[in-house]
Amino acid sequence: MNILDFAINYPDEESCRKKFKEQRDQMGVTCRHCNCKEHYCYWLENKQAYECKRCRVRQTLRSGTVMQHSNLPYRYWFVAMHLLTATKGSFSAAELQRQLGHKRYQPIWEMVNKLRDVMGKRDDEYTLEGAIELDDAFFSTEISLEERDKPLKRGRGSQKKTKVLVMAESKTVENPKPGKKPKKVRYLKMKVISDLKSGTITRNVKEHVESTADLTTDDSTSYTKLKEHVHSHTASVIPHQDLSKVLPWVHTAISNAKRQLLGVYYKIKPEYLQYYLNQFCYKFNRRYFGENQFDRLLIAAVSCAPDFKSRIYNRNYCG
Ligand SMILES: [Zn+2]
Repeated sequence: MNILDFAINYPDEESCRKKFKEQRDQMGVTCRHCNCKEHYCYWLENKQAYECKRCRVRQTLRSGTVMQHSNLPYRYWFVAMHLLTATKGSFSAAELQRQLGHKRYQPIWEMVNKLRDVMGKRDDEYTLEGAIELDDAFFSTEISLEERDKPLKRGRGSQKKTKVLVMAESKTVENPKPGKKPKKVRYLKMKVISDLKSGTITRNVKEHVESTADLTTDDSTSYTKLKEHVHSHTASVIPHQDLSKVLPWVHTAISNAKRQLLGVYYKIKPEYLQYYLNQFCYKFNRRYFGENQFDRLLIAAVSCAPDFKSRIYNRNYCG
């Protein structure tokens, strides 16, 4: 959907609200009190709410969706979803705020990150399988408040770097064309991790990778326990110049993600990096969806509620 189609399909607040409700009705509304499904919830036009036939508890059109607790117009959300799916790279919340002509930055920034949060939730429903490349990467981020007074470490342990585990489903190609990669990529995952300890890596692999998978990594000590949890694990001693042969896709993905983040965002706090990576992976994993991308994100937006705040203030980011 290009910007002209968007303007035709969603010219005002009512058209966006109507589409959002249609999508909710189509997917079926679950009562949040007694958990009963679909036909039990019906729409009360005068109250603008769904009511459960069994327990009479009501819920608004927004509750249980990405928009719960938000007062922003539906149209803002639709514009944000359109930009998130239609743009090739990315855009900043400040840019969106300017385009919408909204006074305050915070609500717009929260809206975009809630959408990135449900993108991550959607991708978390799937695990990777088959041949998988795995490596860790270091993304430049701002120094967190707790670390600010401590002396700055250098290199990989620096407080200016956030560790990310990158996993890519990638199959070997039989006769690769000259100049092309020796492997073909399907899906990608990037997860912010608190450290490179073997336990942390293993926990993430168990969560995001099927036990039948065949993993390829370098020979780092962080990966020594992985073979217990997957079908096979090849830990190669990889000279730097051969990285593009053995782990071609994780490295391409890492450099593309870094380039995109650098180009758009001035500074990223480590606790928010996961949201940006969610967006990058979500779009990469749906790169062949074309026109359907907007509708798919709308489905994710209707079916997932973000836990954006609790993530930021209560959880150690994705350890
Ligand atoms: Zn109920």
